[in-house]
Amino acid sequence: MVAWKMICRPKKQRGLSLRPLKEWNDVLLMKQVWKIISQKESNWWNWVNVVKLKGRDVMDIGQEANDSRGWRQILRLRDAMKTHVHKDNDGTLWWVTGENKLKPYSTGQAWKDLRSNAANVGWCDVIWFPQYTPKHAFICWLAVQQRLATQDRLKIWYPNEVFICSLCGKQEDSHSHLFFKCDFSCQVWENTKKMLVYKGLHNELGLIIKDIARYPAGKDIRNILNRIAITATVYYVWMERNKRQFMKMKKSVDAVSQEVVICSDLRTKIMLHMTCADVPSFSILYCELYAIGDASLL
Ligand SMILES: [Zn+2]
Repeated sequence: MVAWKMICRPKKQRGLSLRPLKEWNDVLLMKQVWKIISQKESNWWNWVNVVKLKGRDVMDIGQEANDSRGWRQILRLRDAMKTHVHKDNDGTLWWVTGENKLKPYSTGQAWKDLRSNAANVGWCDVIWFPQYTPKHAFICWLAVQQRLATQDRLKIWYPNEVFICSLCGKQEDSHSHLFFKCDFSCQVWENTKKMLVYKGLHNELGLIIKDIARYPAGKDIRNILNRIAITATVYYVWMERNKRQFMKMKKSVDAVSQEVVICSDLRTKIMLHMTCADVPSFSILYCELYAIGDASLL
C-alpha cells in the first residue's frame, strides 16, 4: 500500500513519523560512539581506550579480522557519522546538522539528520492538525497520496474482473472519481460545504487540500472546521463505498452527510468547550457558525 520507507518519514514529508527499529537502535548506539569520539572520561571510554584504541584516534583506525560484532557495528556507525563531526581548534566537538549548522550532539538531531528524508509537502497540516481524528486523518492521508485500494488499482491484479463504482454504479472507481467526481460523493461534499464558512472550495480533493492549506490551522475555528470537515467527508465516503462493495449495506447521500455533520459538529463542540474559557472569541464565532443567539449558552 505505502512503502515502509515512506511511512517512517516525518508527517510533513508524507510519512507517519514511525521509527524503524534497526535505524532507531543505530541512532541510540551512536550516543556511545559519540562518547568515544569526544573522549569523555568514563569507565566505558577508559576500557575502549586501553583495549581497543590503544592510544589511537577512533576516527583513524580500521577494522581488524578479530574484531567483535559489536565493535564492527561501532566502526560502521562511526563511518556514518563522519561527515557530521566537527572539531574546533580548542578540541570542542560539534555535530554538523543537515542544514550545515553546528550543534551539541543529541540523539534527536542525529535521528533527524541520518534518517531517510524527502521534500516537505504542503498538505501535512490539513490532515495532521492538532484536533485531528486519527481514523479520518489516516484514510485522508492515504487518499491524498492515492494509496487507497480503489478499483483502478485493483484492476492490475484482476484484469478480467468488471469493476463498477458502488456509489454511483456508472464506472470503475478511482481516487479522482471518489473524491469527488462521482455523482454520489460530489453531493456529499456539496452538503459538507454548506456548513463551512469559506465558500468557493473546489470539488477535487487535491485542489480542496490546497484551498484549505492556504489558511494555517492555528486557533481559528473556521480553519479547524475546514480540516475536520474534509477529513471526515473523505473518511465517510470511503466507508460508504466499502460497506456497499463488501457488506451490501447502503446509505443515502443525506445519511452519509449526516454522519459527516454529526461528527464534525461533535468534534467542534468538544474542541470549543475545551478552549472557550481561554479564548472567549471562540464562543462568538461558534454562535455565528451555528446561528445561536447567545454566547453565554455555551
Ligand atoms: Zn461513482
